[in-house]
Amino acid sequence: MPERRDYYEILGVDRNASQAEIRRAFRRLARKYHPDLNPSDPEAEAKFKEVSAAYEVLSDPERRAQYDRFGQAGPSGIMAGDLWDQLTGFGELFDAFFGQPRPRRPSPRRGADLRCDVTLTLEEVAVGAEKTVTVEKLLPCDRCDGTGSRSRRAPATCPACGGAGQVQHTTRTPFGQLSTVTTCARCGGEGRAVADPCPACRGMGLRPGRVETRVAIPAGIEDGGTLRVEGAGEPGERGGPPGDLFVVVRVEPHETFARQGRDLACEVPIPFTVAALGGEVEIATLNGREKVRIPAGTQTGERFRLRGHGLPDPETGVRGSLYVTVRVVTPQRLSRKQRKLLEEFAREGGDQV
Ligand SMILES: [Zn+2]
Ligand SMILES: [Zn+2]
Repeated sequence: MPERRDYYEILGVDRNASQAEIRRAFRRLARKYHPDLNPSDPEAEAKFKEVSAAYEVLSDPERRAQYDRFGQAGPSGIMAGDLWDQLTGFGELFDAFFGQPRPRRPSPRRGADLRCDVTLTLEEVAVGAEKTVTVEKLLPCDRCDGTGSRSRRAPATCPACGGAGQVQHTTRTPFGQLSTVTTCARCGGEGRAVADPCPACRGMGLRPGRVETRVAIPAGIEDGGTLRVEGAGEPGERGGPPGDLFVVVRVEPHETFARQGRDLACEVPIPFTVAALGGEVEIATLNGREKVRIPAGTQTGERFRLRGHGLPDPETGVRGSLYVTVRVVTPQRLSRKQRKLLEEFAREGGDQV
């Protein structure tokens, strides 16, 4: 595994940077190193991946807290599994010293859950999207068809422990003989092992690889919403079921629309004549152009509601509203005639211009 740099260092932010600072740093670096902008530049691609990995963890308050406490070993499902192994290993040691050695046959174990992020635009959120995510996980080894054996032979009785799955060590100590029973390293406690381990997977039958998974994302999903793809996580061990894949949805901020739940809000400039006399303006919504009626005497900051032009509720499909706040625009350049008319308008109202 390549040497890993600190996530904060990668993003160039302080350890106590705010979420907004982290997001800004990520967007700046992602733009700089994005593979589309740096075609066939492996260094930029590597940087992009590094930056994305750092952002994935630091943008999630829960994972960030975990990272702050445990470092990079913490957040990943695989690493968590290792930690679990260490703990159970410790349990055996504890038993060896203070209790009865207990025979332990490893039971089937469920595969680890995996997590990945997918980013949607607000336009995609409005209608729902189908996305392909790439996840790195363990897959059946292609060299031995997942058997773990070079000759693809089924496992036989383990030669190291004679099928017991455990080996006993006896040590002389100043206090007498100390006998410890440990899980057989050769077969991992299963009592059966392949005679000729596959060199590609070292007898595990599994190798890390990449898998593409299609994920259907329902319309109206919130930023940070999580979808579970059952069985798409790491494969189980010893016949255990696979883990699940959790897809965390990120919604890109939109340049026109701000979102609040199912509702959207935007600001629209209108000519001062329309504001004074009333009229119609055409605005862009997420589902096409719409006309908004502006009553006579409208002021800057007034808000109009367009029902059904917000985002759909993920469960009911009922759409929220679009709130349009108008900003009255004063013309900056006037024709001679417009100027004259306005002067007349001002005189009529008694304004000093
Ligand atoms: Zn063994
Ligand atoms: Zn193999």
